[in-house]
Amino acid sequence: MNPHWNGQFSCFDLVARNDEQFRTLIRIRDIVIGDGHFVVMAGPCAVESELQLMRTAEAVASAGARILRGGAFKPRSSPYSFQGLGLEGLKLLAKARAATGLAIVTEVMSPEDAPQVAEYADIMQVGTRSMQNYALLEALGRCPRPVLLKRGMTCRLEELLESAQVIALNGNPEIILCERGIRTFEIATRNTLDIAAVPVLKAVSHLPVIVDPSHAAGLQALVPVLARAAVAVEADGLLVEVHPCPEKALSDGIQSLTFDQFRSMMQDLQPYLALRAKHPEPLPELVYAGGSA
Ligand code: PEP
Ligand code: MN
Repeated sequence: MNPHWNGQFSCFDLVARNDEQFRTLIRIRDIVIGDGHFVVMAGPCAVESELQLMRTAEAVASAGARILRGGAFKPRSSPYSFQGLGLEGLKLLAKARAATGLAIVTEVMSPEDAPQVAEYADIMQVGTRSMQNYALLEALGRCPRPVLLKRGMTCRLEELLESAQVIALNGNPEIILCERGIRTFEIATRNTLDIAAVPVLKAVSHLPVIVDPSHAAGLQALVPVLARAAVAVEADGLLVEVHPCPEKALSDGIQSLTFDQFRSMMQDLQPYLALRAKHPEPLPELVYAGGSA
């Protein structure tokens, strides 16, 4: 998909926007993702213990999050890092949902795990390292749960949409796209947040698009400002890491917000959300301009 995108998208036609009006809405009980509201998903990188998860769930719910995130199966780059609590983690997530009313998003790493994760999760997360795991995408196509598809850290937007197409082609049209930063030559941040991905994806696809500022920034201090950028570009929501004691987190503590930081970030976003509700930005028209970039 070059910048002069010419509207030819047979490789992802099921998820491509062709009718100006039609947009996919994801409904989980009374939560709607993709209808113009901003839905915040927050919680720890990994489920570590009942106390950690329950405290976080209560804190993020009272600050306005609607969905609790937390990995039970963790794909870690190092085999020596914490790999997650597995089934026990899923059970704790279900307990937190029962206690707070939050919906649950959690990662699924393999096609074999999909039925078990689907028993507990409201949304199935595909991590950056799995975006092109076609067996997993096919299994999620047959799964009766919406899928949160994170962009591969070295993948192009066209490839992200091709992966979404695999899920849709196998029977599941309920897909949320997530920009979580990509690998570039810049190392001042953990990844480079490709903020333009949001308007581009929303212009060429009818799927909702959210932003994960935590994995993009890799640093607590940058998360709120990237979240603000997500609001400004009309993202449909956020996926944010929050931990009761980030310095003791078993994974991704450096980029996890404390409860206070999360609460202030949510308050800080309110005027920007009000402004965007008043003056929604029209989607850019990406039309073929001829020639090369
Ligand atoms: C996560 O959400 O904790 C995670 C592992 O994200 P990503 O797949 O984007 O690295
Ligand atoms: Mn993480």
